[in-house]
Amino acid sequence: MATPRPPVRKPAYLQPVSIARVEPLTTARALRGPFDYLIPERLGEIAVGTVLEVPFGRRRITGVVVELAETSEVPPEKLAEPIRVLGTGTTEELIDLGRWIATEYCSTPARGLGLVLPPGTGTGGERTRFRIEKLSSITAAGREALEGGARLGAKQELALQQLLEGDLTGRQLAARAGIDSSTLKRLEDRGLIERRQVNVRRRPDGAGVGAAAAQAPNLTEAQQAAVTGLVGRLDDPRSGEGVLLAGVTGSGKTEVYLAVVEAVLARGETAIVLVPEIGLTPQAVGRFQARLGDRVAVLHSALTAGQRFDEWQRLKSGEATVCVGPRSAVFAPLENLGLIVIDEEHDPSYKQEGDPRYDAREVARRRALATGSLLVLGTATPRPESWERLERIDLPARVDGQGMPPVELVDMREADPRQGPIHRRTWEALAEVRNKGEKAIVMINRRGFAPWLTCRTCGHHWGCPNCDVSLIVHRESDQLICHHCNHAEPLPRRCPECGGTTLSQTGAGTQRIERLLAEELAPMPVFRLDADTSAGPGGHARILSAFDRESSAILVGTQMVAKGHDFPEVTLAAILDADATLRFPDFRAEERTFSLVTQLAGRSGRSRAGGRVIVQTLAPGNPSISHAATHDSAGFLAGELERRRELGYPPFSHLIRIQLAAEAEPEVERAANLVAARLDQALPAGAELLGPAPMFRARNRYRRRLLVRSTTRADSIEAVHRTIENLLADRSLNKITLAIDVDPQ
Ligand code: ADP
Ligand code: ZN
Repeated sequence: MATPRPPVRKPAYLQPVSIARVEPLTTARALRGPFDYLIPERLGEIAVGTVLEVPFGRRRITGVVVELAETSEVPPEKLAEPIRVLGTGTTEELIDLGRWIATEYCSTPARGLGLVLPPGTGTGGERTRFRIEKLSSITAAGREALEGGARLGAKQELALQQLLEGDLTGRQLAARAGIDSSTLKRLEDRGLIERRQVNVRRRPDGAGVGAAAAQAPNLTEAQQAAVTGLVGRLDDPRSGEGVLLAGVTGSGKTEVYLAVVEAVLARGETAIVLVPEIGLTPQAVGRFQARLGDRVAVLHSALTAGQRFDEWQRLKSGEATVCVGPRSAVFAPLENLGLIVIDEEHDPSYKQEGDPRYDAREVARRRALATGSLLVLGTATPRPESWERLERIDLPARVDGQGMPPVELVDMREADPRQGPIHRRTWEALAEVRNKGEKAIVMINRRGFAPWLTCRTCGHHWGCPNCDVSLIVHRESDQLICHHCNHAEPLPRRCPECGGTTLSQTGAGTQRIERLLAEELAPMPVFRLDADTSAGPGGHARILSAFDRESSAILVGTQMVAKGHDFPEVTLAAILDADATLRFPDFRAEERTFSLVTQLAGRSGRSRAGGRVIVQTLAPGNPSISHAATHDSAGFLAGELERRRELGYPPFSHLIRIQLAAEAEPEVERAANLVAARLDQALPAGAELLGPAPMFRARNRYRRRLLVRSTTRADSIEAVHRTIENLLADRSLNKITLAIDVDPQ
């Protein structure tokens, strides 16, 4: 990977010229940019961030200016000139951020810069542009013609009537009244209408679930104190490090964000609000739009290319001053940034899974510090990292003065296995919800019908042919499906080993729970929310809206149901397998479990009707579960930090994970040993190599992971990066797919 060049000492014979250092926007790792080009006057103004087409060997490629200089190591007569300017690109601040990401997350400059440039830049595909349409408006002559009964065709008269109410585009006239362009052309020729070219915004679909109030409520004392505290830090240069807004579920954190955003806008500055994956949080976006109107632009993956382009341009031009969206919204091209809010800061979706594997929370911190902005991280379940490092403002109670809902732990170790996945206590609570005409949310952290299919006769167990995992029974499609690689096969009727026909479907997933609830609690409607039912744009919002519209209903689903929704009529939240996440072999298992149980509990009892929570568990004594049962974040975090300190895990160290994958097992074995040996030599003091962890197979490839744990972050990242680059350069890792993950989750 290319590091920016050190400043060149100017040889005396060189005259000052205008040099653009251009980073190619191709993903080939072999290109070590940036490369120097001579800027001719004919190209007009070129700045850091400008996107250019440049000659490169015999090719023409797209690149972006990352620095301007007066001298080059290359003599001027040997320097090529760019061919043309392709776009204004982005700001210097964002170019620096993109380059920082490339280094910090062991990626390439092209990938880092790709995050901060206008959507579609450098992809080589069709470039997205503004949508230009003709807007028609009625003229004085047109009005007269209508009133005076001039001779008009039926379509012409209809068109004029439509335009009396306001200007419309051809597309709108066609949709409303079937008016075609030849009618409009004739009206224009007669001077009855005027048409002009306008840039039409392709508006993202409204994301709202439930009516969001446009009017701000009177803030509670605690909210007001939080707002005052945060606004007071707007000019504090350290505020980019981040302030933790630790507010219990239902404490009204969103109103605090809104008030601080408004204060920032009033100062003439702009703001970014990050929310977990948008499909999962349609309510959050709706609330910002309802309050701030068209000043809000949304950026997320479900937008069409045109919508994304338009929203991006609205931010760039300053027409929109607030950007709301999931992790990639941290790259919003806003100038004069004053505030970045990260809602639900504990959410794992802030970490990007593909290269560059950036963590939006760290990028936000970097950006806030670079721009002198305030960074606010809000949650009911802070990460140990945030608790340890950040200044904190607390919102200790719910807005309406309601207490937190009581949590009942149900010990499943003592339950009769014939009782099935739902305990008698939980059934009783659900029946009560039905009898009172209220709502309940039930969570089970696995989709499908049953997680195991086994032959009763010989014990054969169906596993995935491509991965080291069980196949999951899906009853709706009558299939066995792998949740890793999506391999699917028809549900078998007999065992391939012994021919036995008694097959048992053990365990439960969302489909089985949905069926059980619907049978037992009829006629109460049951809605299922998981990756299968919510696929496709707006799928998620559709299910939540349907649940919202019923007066009494049950929502069952995976951890999607625990995310920050606000449904006041919910009086029961039940989690059926609270320890599912505890069984993951990961040092964050406790943190995840605590957060999931607490967040789910937080969905209950958000109104005067009150509420309760039932947690079914095999590990009632585990601190993550016992502390969640008492809504005790501080208690949990104190213990968890102590444990992490003893084990030397983050936040007391940094982790870098290197994953090697290939089709053949021996290849991976050899590569893992080689990388381990080289790293052993290259790592700086304070860094150590853990692993290699055992080989595993996923998506038909063998995989092995190495983990570096260090207290010297930058040096260790550098050492890993350099080691891997060297091995790639001398072709020692052919056939191996490599992924380096800094701060893996
Ligand atoms: P959190 O994000 O902290 O869980 P929310 O921001 O979702 O909490 O707020 C919970 C509910 O309380 C929402 O319905 C919100 O509209 C309402 N609310 C927030 N602040 C106030 C207030 N000051 N007065 C009345 N209702 C409020
Ligand atoms: Zn598989």
